[in-house]
Amino acid sequence: MGYRVVLISQDGIFTGELSEAGRHFDEREIQPEYIAFPTFFNAHVHLNDAVALDPPRMALDEMVGPGGYKFRVIWGRFHDISHALRAALDLKDTSHFLEFREGGEKALRVLEAAGVDGVLPLARPGSIEEARKIARKVRGFALSSVRDHDVEFIEELRSFAKRKDLIFAIHAGEKDNEDVEGALSLEPDLLIHMNRARKDQLRMAMNEEVPIVSCIRSNFFFGLENMENYDILTEYHNWMIGTDNAMICSPSILDELSFASFVMGREENLFAASLRGHIIFGTQPRTALVEVKPFRFSENFIHTLVRRVSSAHVSLQLPAFPEKFKL
Ligand SMILES: [Zn+2]
Repeated sequence: MGYRVVLISQDGIFTGELSEAGRHFDEREIQPEYIAFPTFFNAHVHLNDAVALDPPRMALDEMVGPGGYKFRVIWGRFHDISHALRAALDLKDTSHFLEFREGGEKALRVLEAAGVDGVLPLARPGSIEEARKIARKVRGFALSSVRDHDVEFIEELRSFAKRKDLIFAIHAGEKDNEDVEGALSLEPDLLIHMNRARKDQLRMAMNEEVPIVSCIRSNFFFGLENMENYDILTEYHNWMIGTDNAMICSPSILDELSFASFVMGREENLFAASLRGHIIFGTQPRTALVEVKPFRFSENFIHTLVRRVSSAHVSLQLPAFPEKFKL
């Protein structure tokens, strides 16, 4: 028993039969019951703040800056975080999450307690000693903007990550371009945002092949969007998509794509960017299934998936994606 599907992949759109676990696909002419697609990689999320969904509107600094609303609320509701995290990740369209986990050991224990899979943690330790202690449990470290941390600590953490072969990620160019140069001088492995970076700064990061993650809904929420930079990024082979703070946007990439495609078009580029994390971070997509019935009059299934299908439509997640469709 398997599934009759219209399968959307990087290689094109095919109809056929998919095995029960999603591992095998036989292309043939059939009437599909499901739309099948590879599960997405969310390349930037903060899951702790799923404990405080949909706060009042306020400026970026007041909300998520050092000592801002988010941090006051999160630490006050510490015991609920693992439950909130499980609820936020009850999604079938997205299987992997690069989690920018504020905090060190304590925050990692909460993640372990939640017992969720597919989360790749990048920690934000308070000191180099703490970084040493948790190095084995994380994929790397992730900092806020260079302006939010002590310069000496940032540089030490950067070289520690390099020695341990761990990822060093940093936010830059979100509210303005003043923290971009500082971030680039650290030779980061991953840059988040860059929506407000100058064009020459953006080009410099791209020439250095630093992967860049855009979080379109979050940028619009805070009034920080920049269509010109998104346009440049859509053509970049190391561009990825994230959802940023779980308190503001759900961690579903499908929901992010729906919004992003309406404001910027470029459905095929958005789809590719949403899978690229699997290649960069060495993870394997699974298969997500959506009943085809409400969408059977689609003119183009990739456009329908990116624009119209929401996370709530996705009814099943199978453990594998057919091997013959390599990312
Ligand atoms: Zn962030």
